[in-house]
Amino acid sequence: MFRVITAVLAMGVSIGGIASAAQAQDAPKREIVQISGDLYRFQNKFHYSVFLVTPAGVIATDPIDADAAQWLKSEIASRFGKQIRYVVYSHDHVDHSSGGEVFAADGAIVIAHENAKRTILGEKRPTAVPQITFKKRMTLELGGKTVELRYLGKNHSDNMIVMRFPEERTLFAVDFLPVQTVAYRDFSDAYLPEWIESLARVERMDFDILAPGHGQLGTKADVTAFREYMSDLTGQVLEQARMGKSLEEAKAAVDLSKYSDWAQFEAWSPLNIAGAYQRIQLNRRGN
Ligand SMILES: [Zn+2]
Repeated sequence: MFRVITAVLAMGVSIGGIASAAQAQDAPKREIVQISGDLYRFQNKFHYSVFLVTPAGVIATDPIDADAAQWLKSEIASRFGKQIRYVVYSHDHVDHSSGGEVFAADGAIVIAHENAKRTILGEKRPTAVPQITFKKRMTLELGGKTVELRYLGKNHSDNMIVMRFPEERTLFAVDFLPVQTVAYRDFSDAYLPEWIESLARVERMDFDILAPGHGQLGTKADVTAFREYMSDLTGQVLEQARMGKSLEEAKAAVDLSKYSDWAQFEAWSPLNIAGAYQRIQLNRRGN
């Protein structure tokens, strides 16, 4: 946690302050930190989103959950005197998209990838249904400010988008490119070859600051490092699978030690190997 706070402070000015001792011990950690210019990062426990303040109102992103969204809405009203005009979901997963109805109730327009709308309806996600969807790319303009929304293909889900804030030189990207952290567990909802291609597309985009959905801020070098991790992981696991090795044999043979200083390496890298092995076996059977 200390590392997260120092990394954030190094790149911006804290306007939220660190949770005071007066707050209940079990109250979720919530904080707003300026990333650059008019772009701010919102933290709710281990989840993060961003929002852009413009003269005509605010563009919010992942609401995270209804309580978090309620808190953020009142903080934006009191600190900036602005209404939330748009809310953009990074992807459908419930721990990021929940709570959109809190913003929509005040007239915010909800935007997401077209596949996200399908899943939000199909899985009855507890959030507002997107009113505007897109397939590849969309530019959102408000109060003279711009946000570029892009779909980069399937990766951690089939409906993940990234949001680029050109004036702030920042990219908001959730769950498919953690910063100095291995991938989350065993790739339960994942598309592995396309995932690596999405990362390469991010590397070709124009930004300096990477604002992920979890953990510390990063840079484009972190995207390259994570693409290399995913290539190493899937390349080595594929080699083992082609040699007919079992999962246990693959786990013993795959060497990811050059990433051993990354967060969650001990806990999740064996799960990453297992998840990649299962996905690769499915692909090799033509499923
Ligand atoms: Zn997710």
